[in-house]
Amino acid sequence: MKLIFLGPPGAGKGTQAQRIQENHGLVQLSTGDMLRAAVAAGTEVGKKAEEIMARGDLVPDDVVVSIISERTQQPDCAKGYILDGFPRNVAQAQALDKMLAERGESLDAVLELKVDPKILLSRIETRASETAGGPRADDNAEALKKRLDVYMAQTAPLIEYYGKKDILKSVDGMKSIDEVTAEIEAALKL
Ligand code: ADP
Repeated sequence: MKLIFLGPPGAGKGTQAQRIQENHGLVQLSTGDMLRAAVAAGTEVGKKAEEIMARGDLVPDDVVVSIISERTQQPDCAKGYILDGFPRNVAQAQALDKMLAERGESLDAVLELKVDPKILLSRIETRASETAGGPRADDNAEALKKRLDVYMAQTAPLIEYYGKKDILKSVDGMKSIDEVTAEIEAALKL
């Protein structure tokens, strides 16, 4: 099964993708985690991405598209995977469609975690104060607001993109973590 988890920063995508990975053996592929690993390891990709990520902008499409293209071909992905944080704009979604078509594959579903935008800003501010000085250079109020703006402008249009393809499923992301997991499992018939 090939899934995309879609939702703004603070919606709980990563938490839910991890739970689905644990419960159902799908591999969680978080481009954010992979890029942070590249930054920590000081690779060429990491050097390119570091500053862009710290301010909350998107790293270039070709960088993330090639990361995903390589990663999804590794043996542990054979049973399926959850894309968490990718695609983040229409160009990336088109590149993903092309990549899968070339492999004779397709997406099973795109799961949208719906969260009230008004709540997000306060969740984000709480997270920024809790994680200040922590491992993520982009968990400060300014970069988090930027990530939210980038989401609204570039990533939210994917809801329509996948809606038109009839593979979009939306779940209320405002409930408790357990309730959201249960809703996701029901929506995806897992
Ligand atoms: P969050 O969902 O909390 O905003 P992520 O861990 O998914 O955070 O991403 C952190 C940062 O990594 C993004 O702000 C961006 O700079 C970079 N990034 C992650 N995925 C992508 C992507 N698909 N395209 C471009 N940049 C990305």
